Amino acid sequence: MNEITFSPSAPGYWGPAKVSPSDWNSAKWQLKNRVSTLAEIEKHLTLCDEERAGILLTGTKLATAITPHYFNLIHPTDPDCPIRRQVIPRIEETHTDPSEMADPCGEDSHMPVPGLVHRYPDRVLFLVTDRCAAYCRYCTRSRVVSGVSDQKLETQWDKAIDYLKNTPQVRDVLLSGGDPLLFSDSKLERLLSKLHAIPHIQFIRIGSRIPIFLPQRITPELCAMLKKFHPLFLSIHSNHPDELTTEVRDGLGRLADAGIVMGNQSVLLERVNDSVEVQKKLVQKLLMCRVRPYYLYQGDLIQGTAHLRTDIAKGIEIIEGLRGHTSGYAIPQYVVDAPGGGGKIPVNPQYIVESNDQQTILRNYEGKQFTYPTTQLPKKSVL
Ligand SMILES: *Cc1c(COP(=O)(O)O)cnc(C)c1O
Repeated sequence: MNEITFSPSAPGYWGPAKVSPSDWNSAKWQLKNRVSTLAEIEKHLTLCDEERAGILLTGTKLATAITPHYFNLIHPTDPDCPIRRQVIPRIEETHTDPSEMADPCGEDSHMPVPGLVHRYPDRVLFLVTDRCAAYCRYCTRSRVVSGVSDQKLETQWDKAIDYLKNTPQVRDVLLSGGDPLLFSDSKLERLLSKLHAIPHIQFIRIGSRIPIFLPQRITPELCAMLKKFHPLFLSIHSNHPDELTTEVRDGLGRLADAGIVMGNQSVLLERVNDSVEVQKKLVQKLLMCRVRPYYLYQGDLIQGTAHLRTDIAKGIEIIEGLRGHTSGYAIPQYVVDAPGGGGKIPVNPQYIVESNDQQTILRNYEGKQFTYPTTQLPKKSVL
């Protein structure tokens, strides 16, 4: 019942093409052989009409690209495959719901310097590239990511570094994009060195889905370089337990051995991970990979992603199904990134049944009720 298994995404699964293990294990080969056209996809998968039309029509919104490693995990015939729904476009992407926006989290209006989002008092989000190893169909930054839409990501590193040097209240810099781990080791090292040299920056974190899409990139050399910049945190992005293959587990192990503290950010997605059962397996498997679940995001109101969003009630139900039922370390904070730029707002199940001046009635994970005094008596001297 509690059995959790890790399987490889081995080259043998990669269709009839002969791939040598050294090619397969090379990040360069994986990137060069990304699957992106209808013909390439159809060579391996039986597509439904919605997918075929989606692949043809979404090329000016968000590019399609899937690493062979990740593509291998897709079910060849089932359009409901949770891996498939994350990376294969569907025609629904061309429909915009009235509530949807291009920039729902209001990032563009919070940039003191192009590419640098300064929303919270002590930390910034630094968008360093617009490219990823593969593209998620629900991308929160599809307005600028992948290079096919009209809006381009403007990022000026020198100006951003100057702003950070002159803004002493910033103690935490989060590198994201796009995916910063797509840079070469030397390019990433130059950037990290500049940030690390700023005295008031206490810690740096990187947001990356490369450990999942392209675990071949997590080389011993990369880990050796990253460990020079401690305290360094890494937020990975996994949404489904099947993504945690043996290659992914081993790459995460190398990062953990290098002392990098890792959290996972997942997005609640319809028919991908919108059940307690799938989420429980995901979070438990993440702990086995030495990654702590950090955030579970309610889907942002991105144009063309309604078919992947759930109701907020679903997120609450999932957290309720985890709390008390599995390790506290396995439970992420469910958040809604407020439309209009309000930032991340935690959303929790209600465990307070009733509260008055005297007592607060709480319920536990089994639904049993318990009473606790609402206010403490004035502290008296016991002498
Ligand atoms: C998510 C985010 C952060 C980091 O938030 P934490 O809650 O500290 O992880 C910082 N800036 C922006 C703009 C963000 O969206």
